[in-house]
Amino acid sequence: MTLHAELAAELAARDGEGLRRRRRLLESPQRAHVRVDGRDYLAFCSNDYLGLASDPRIVAAAKEGAELHGVGAGASHLILGHAAAHHELELALAAFTGLPRALLFSTGYMANIGVVSALAGRGDAVFSDRLNHASLNDAALLSRAAFRRFPHNDLAALERQLINTPARRRLVIVDAVFSMDGDIAPVPELLGICARHDACLLIDDAHGFGVLGKRGRGTAAHFGIRSDHLIYMATLGKAAGVAGAFVAGSEVLVESLVQQARSYIYTTATPPLLAHALLESLRIIGEEQWRRDRLHQLVSRLKQGLRDSPWRLLPSDTPIQPLLVGGNAEALALSARLAEQGLLVPAIRPPTVPQGTARLRISLSADHEAGDVDRLVDALRQAA
Ligand SMILES: *Cc1c(COP(=O)(O)O)cnc(C)c1O
Repeated sequence: MTLHAELAAELAARDGEGLRRRRRLLESPQRAHVRVDGRDYLAFCSNDYLGLASDPRIVAAAKEGAELHGVGAGASHLILGHAAAHHELELALAAFTGLPRALLFSTGYMANIGVVSALAGRGDAVFSDRLNHASLNDAALLSRAAFRRFPHNDLAALERQLINTPARRRLVIVDAVFSMDGDIAPVPELLGICARHDACLLIDDAHGFGVLGKRGRGTAAHFGIRSDHLIYMATLGKAAGVAGAFVAGSEVLVESLVQQARSYIYTTATPPLLAHALLESLRIIGEEQWRRDRLHQLVSRLKQGLRDSPWRLLPSDTPIQPLLVGGNAEALALSARLAEQGLLVPAIRPPTVPQGTARLRISLSADHEAGDVDRLVDALRQAA
């Protein structure tokens, strides 16, 4: 039983460092006001930025999708699992993002694994921002390409790495909106560097899709950029409120992924009812601008309210508003104190964020009211 003894010691060590993760039990649908572990809370924890995760119209579309397509896809896309609803969604996603073609994956994690390992391999090099999401790093490691990380948003360091690489194919990967910091990557500048050094840029827009850009078309639309050097990836379980992800780009890129992305090929297609629900979600994202307007108002209200807080909000104009606390124990204590008052805000600790930068990750949703933000601000003022 050496394995069990070792695991038990590792768990105990986690406890000692305040790093043990515990799962709360969500007993209501995902929304601003939730029931958790038998108690009602106001939550600032989800990535449901537009408040669509339990939208009745999308729920109705999911039911209709089940009636039309059944529940299980029953096969992978390349065998007989590619349902009409999947296909229609891919066409809609391409039209929505203004890119030639889109490919649906079951999750964002799988999309990143699939696209990076299909495009880069031995002899190639992947360049990754230090604050990138874990799925991008895992993807780079799995690809067997040389894996170079550059300091957060350090364009000069990236350019030096590109100048010095002997690799034939170069792929630069970044979060378009950094998931634990909320800042937006300098995508136009990154594209400029990629164009100069014959590299491709993959942006992971998990937190920008639906939120940024005209009609919520995402971070590329926010900057008004189009380029053959750009590969766009976004997830559909955050602002879109459902599940899944897609990669969009040129016809030849997407067709290559169909042929080569192992996390696309060797897995059962996502239930087509989800694709049917996502068509309704996409319609709502495009049409209901008030959701993005509301988010902007809530972000301003929170910043205003916490202007003279002892804890600093990191510079972010997105619904991800991290409050920098520092120590793990301090962040946990602050989160616990808010929870006592019926407010849920997660404490994010290493290794998700660098040592010494534990934080409360406040995430706002169009489902929040101005009064909800005021309640959080008041509680934080009292805790200070
Ligand atoms: C959430 C997230 C993912 C993973 O997407 P899932 O659909 O949840 O698997 C990938 N990249 C980033 C930046 C994310 O925040």
